Amino acid sequence: MQTKQCKLCYEDKPAEAFSKDTRLADGLAPYCKECKKARYYRRSDMPDTPDLCPALHIPLTDPVKVKINKNKGWTEDNIMILSSRAVELKADATLSEIVWLGEFYRDLSLNKEKALKGEKVLDSSL
Ligand SMILES: [Zn+2]
Repeated sequence: MQTKQCKLCYEDKPAEAFSKDTRLADGLAPYCKECKKARYYRRSDMPDTPDLCPALHIPLTDPVKVKINKNKGWTEDNIMILSSRAVELKADATLSEIVWLGEFYRDLSLNKEKALKGEKVLDSSL
């Protein structure tokens, strides 16, 4: 049986637990139906929702409530609102992985040869 890990609750669930999403390689939505129901919400339910995703600076047309620290509960001080794109990209990556990946792609656009050897092009400690 095909299973997939939900990107919000991190549980492995059968394919039937996910909605179809033909934009993704496996044809399944990144979040299980249960999470989608619980955590997607209408903008009208939350008038304070910003217009832009604070992470990607793109219009927040598909806001998703996510935990800031996934090991803590759904308390007001542990919830943030991001675009579903930001949540998809973050997936289960760590902070270091996100930073290194961003620096790699930035370096790749500046100096392909150095970047592909794993050398830093820009010193990010500046
Ligand atoms: Zn889930």
